Amino acid sequence: MRQAQNAAEPALSEELLSRYAGPCPRYTSYPTADRFGPLGDGEPWRALADIRSLSLYVHIPFCHSLCYFCACNKVITRQYGLASSYLEQLLREMRWYRDKVARVPVTQLHLGGGTPTYLNDDDMRRLIDGLAQIFDLRTGEDVEYSIEADPRTLELDTLATLRQLGFNRLSLGIQDFNPVVQQSINRICSSDQVAQLTDAAREQGFRSISYDLIYGLPGQSVDSLQRTLDRVLELAPDRIALYHYAHLPHRFKAQRLIDSNLIPTPTEKIAMQLAAVSRLTQAGYEFLGMDHFALPGDELAAAAREGRLARNFQGYTLMPADALVGLGASAISYSADGYWQNLHRLKEYAQAVTDRGIATCRGWLLDGDDRLRQWVIGELMCRLQLDKKEAAERAGAPFETYFAADLARLQPMFDDGLLQQDENCLRVTNRGRWFVRNAAAAFDRYLHSAETDARYSRVL
Ligand code: SF4
Repeated sequence: MRQAQNAAEPALSEELLSRYAGPCPRYTSYPTADRFGPLGDGEPWRALADIRSLSLYVHIPFCHSLCYFCACNKVITRQYGLASSYLEQLLREMRWYRDKVARVPVTQLHLGGGTPTYLNDDDMRRLIDGLAQIFDLRTGEDVEYSIEADPRTLELDTLATLRQLGFNRLSLGIQDFNPVVQQSINRICSSDQVAQLTDAAREQGFRSISYDLIYGLPGQSVDSLQRTLDRVLELAPDRIALYHYAHLPHRFKAQRLIDSNLIPTPTEKIAMQLAAVSRLTQAGYEFLGMDHFALPGDELAAAAREGRLARNFQGYTLMPADALVGLGASAISYSADGYWQNLHRLKEYAQAVTDRGIATCRGWLLDGDDRLRQWVIGELMCRLQLDKKEAAERAGAPFETYFAADLARLQPMFDDGLLQQDENCLRVTNRGRWFVRNAAAAFDRYLHSAETDARYSRVL
């Protein structure tokens, strides 16, 4: 069981935040996807025959226009024919799995992008029908079927279609309501539009409505962010993801369109984070970990309180499955044996699916130590604690011996009061919750094998 959330205002300080703000993975997987390489003769999908529950992810990479901050794998186009052809490839790719996946309930389905709602209603139906022919899709409240939507282009009628097709969670990309900020990232969307969609989604029966917000965007200030949060709180989404904008124009071409002079300084970003965290928690949102908040009545908040949170490529979830099949360009899948990832580029993905039925290009086969550290990192990120006895049993060695180097790396976090331990348990403290990815990183064997950390985004 976690410590009570919001029992005390987390004592964050600018000095503490800046000390832990360096580059750090987000641990949606362990090992992290940037470690993946050739699989050789490995076939981690073979383990799909022995699962009891399944997650599905479908990547729809198309968008109508370019948001300058975007680091996603997307294709900006107005030629709908590209999406139609892509759908054919998706249907072909899912058929490859027909005789490989046990017929088990799909407890979780997520459509991400790009903009999944780029697909028109007929094609969305074809996609879901295609999935239902191969996988055991369920209806009802004990499954988590979610879709990311762009409020600028989502039609009210489409919401009804999505609900009919079984989606019960909706995630809206808001980023910021301030017109100046919206202009500088080329993403104009009024808060009234978002309000209308939020109301309609609730009427349609979507259970958890989530907003994505970003701080550190060009032109943003503490004041402007406060005004965005004022409006967000009026609309009261069930969940909020508050991401930090990492300006990496050398890696993401779109970001070169942003005027670097408008990017807030690290000090300003820290002030924004402090202000936002304080505003959201005072308004009653519970902090789940990393950058996620939820209203106390939301099931994700309840799961966090009861120690039932899990983590996957989409972030926190309450319905973890034994395996994930990811479909589409760049999608990642996993099983008990490892990970496999599809080709990124649309053309290469389509060609590979045509030739081989799948588009796998790289992955990772898990060894015993990987599985152990995967579990350790999951415990820290989701339950904010680590049972040393269980860790020792899994390691087959005393905890302090097996993890001696990791514990040494954690010493500054103990010294700063971000972690505590006794002989049975290592715990993330109330204020340590903001730095949980730093704690997880101490257990990442590959991160500490004398390689550069320049590939990761900064915590701030
Ligand atoms: S932020 Fe979303 S809508 Fe904008 S370009 Fe990226 S994927 Fe497309």
